[in-house]
Amino acid sequence: MDSEHTAQVTADANDMDVPVRVFSGARPTGRQHIGNYLGAIQNYVALQDEAECFYCIVDYHALTTFEQTERIARNTRDMVLDWLAAGMDPSRAVIFAQSDVPQITELHMLLSMIVPLSWLTRAPTFREQSEAHPDNVNYGLLGYPVLMASDILLYKATTVPVGEDQVPHLELAREIARRFNHRFGETFPVPQAQLTEFPRVMGIDGTHKMSKSLDNHIELADTPEDLRTRVLSMVTDPQRRYRTDPGRPEVCNVYTLHTYYSTPEEQAQVYHCCTNALQGCVECKEWLSRNLDAALAPFRARRDAFAADGDRVEQILGDGAARARSVATETLREVRERVGLRPQPR
Ligand code: SF4
Repeated sequence: MDSEHTAQVTADANDMDVPVRVFSGARPTGRQHIGNYLGAIQNYVALQDEAECFYCIVDYHALTTFEQTERIARNTRDMVLDWLAAGMDPSRAVIFAQSDVPQITELHMLLSMIVPLSWLTRAPTFREQSEAHPDNVNYGLLGYPVLMASDILLYKATTVPVGEDQVPHLELAREIARRFNHRFGETFPVPQAQLTEFPRVMGIDGTHKMSKSLDNHIELADTPEDLRTRVLSMVTDPQRRYRTDPGRPEVCNVYTLHTYYSTPEEQAQVYHCCTNALQGCVECKEWLSRNLDAALAPFRARRDAFAADGDRVEQILGDGAARARSVATETLREVRERVGLRPQPR
């Protein structure tokens, strides 16, 4: 599962001439799927060699909409196991949970004092989530963008890797940083989006982005049997009704996954056989399933080894939280001074 892609971090990420620092937060969704890997995790791995990286499991965010909160701790552990197995390295990146750094709540509160209510009520996330959860339109949901900005600004991140659809969310964090700097003096780098070139992976239904909530995903740690079952259930070219019909690989998600998990020669063969009706879809999926399984077997082995290693995940999260707290403490000291609060007693 080595990344073929290289992520480039440019030093123009801020006007304050500070070192490039990457922050990315992910909600604790538990075991990761191949969409998470291709769309984000492989980028996280590549960035570790290029910048100081803070990778955070944003468990407070999960509380705004998460109905089964008893799963948060287990999901956090599962995510970390997948991240480690995929190549994220705690000796090169700070891997931690949001709620293990209590300074985040203080910065959230302080930033909330300068954010106009209108910025929050018109935020796309608030509108979407209010419609999706009309019974639970809570304060946390409204303040979500401030918490997100706090995540980034607490670590003075200069760079946030995002997909194009997330750029508006980052824009609010940039506005908050600018507003604070304007009012209290240059404190925060204005974070830049690093637009990822990584793919938006479709689910096995072929129509929606791969997502656990839609149950259209293939997990990185799936057993070979589950993997095969999932691949065999994938929706293919809807116009190809019989084996004798030529297919259209360019509209088929099975072919798309072949482009990630099969060799160039195999991809050419799949394309040729599909467009000339020389191969059935079941055969094509079996082929993909074998290649996916071969690609994921080393991942499963690494994951099993980490899982069997006692308290390894807790140690990694503990070390990551200590490193994150050290940066957060310094940022908050500066922020308190800027806004006019007296220094905290030691
Ligand atoms: Fe898709 Fe393969 Fe069927 Fe072609 S043969 S439609 S690429 S599953």
